[in-house]
Amino acid sequence: MTKIAFIGLGIMGSPMAVHLATAGHLVTGFNPTTIKAAPLVAAGGRATTSIADAVRGAEVICVMVPDSPDVRDVLTGAKGVFDSAEPGALIIDFSTIRPDVAVELADQAAARGFRLLDAPVSGGEAGAVAGTLSVMVGGAVADFDAARPILDLVAETVVHVGPSGSGQTVKAANQLIVAANIQALAEAVIFLEAHGVDLDAALRVLGGGLAGSKVLEQKQGNMLSRSFAPGFRIDLHHKDLGIVTAAAHQAGLVLPLGSLVAELLTDARSHGDGGLDHSALLRGVERRSGRADGEN
Ligand code: NAP
Repeated sequence: MTKIAFIGLGIMGSPMAVHLATAGHLVTGFNPTTIKAAPLVAAGGRATTSIADAVRGAEVICVMVPDSPDVRDVLTGAKGVFDSAEPGALIIDFSTIRPDVAVELADQAAARGFRLLDAPVSGGEAGAVAGTLSVMVGGAVADFDAARPILDLVAETVVHVGPSGSGQTVKAANQLIVAANIQALAEAVIFLEAHGVDLDAALRVLGGGLAGSKVLEQKQGNMLSRSFAPGFRIDLHHKDLGIVTAAAHQAGLVLPLGSLVAELLTDARSHGDGGLDHSALLRGVERRSGRADGEN
């Protein structure tokens, strides 16, 4: 039984923390909107109203917040993790952030006597709820080995991909693939609808061939029913494609598809869709094709 602090109990963090508590660990959760700790408490965890209280005595500290400034704030802010945690604590940052920020924070953590892994995840809300995420981990091998029993409780696929920051680099590639995939699926759905094809039949047969994918499995329902409650918010995917395009620029790479989907995510946000699931990229295809609500 390990004393675990879990900071950030949103769409992903809440079910992940619940898995850790259900497995018998002593999990103390912190989230600014306190009601989000209710599922953790129902699973036998404890809720608290400050990071300092959450991390007191914790051997493992999990973080799952939206963006680089949030992780920086949680770790380095006044009464944050570095100020309040026990020396030697193992910090697992599951958030998706900039690789360079992950490296910088890992260096700061080491200087303060902590161990920090970047451990972004893939698999969406469904994967978090089922405990079947993929986790791509950057950091020291010994720290990865120490974190492994915890990671195995939230994930099916757990891979150490290199030193600090590597997990975030792999996650950036993941987000490029997923965004391009969703955009292609959205275009295929509108294409099939426009030609009057039986969509259920079409997607069933596409799913069995090379066009099949987790994106097709998990996102076709949202697209067919036009229900875009997140899931994974377009605002967050926009953040991630910003990471991809900046890192590509830094390496002198030309990634036309990455640049295009980054623009399409910006376009979606500018139309007020930032809070919707990323499957709502479909709405952009509809708008540009004159097939938005009332235009069919
Ligand atoms: P979310 O639902 O917005 O959850 C983020 C949580 O962090 C919220 O509950 C928020 O609390 C809390 N938070 C924000 N700033 C904080 C701070 N400074 N200190 C403490 N807590 C803070 O987002 P999510 O979908 O779970 O995503 C979390 C991370 O996972 C992101 O980096 C995202 O890119 C990544 N991710 C998401 C998915 C997905 O499918 N959703 C999949 C893979 C990876 P309040 O609501 O009270 O502000």
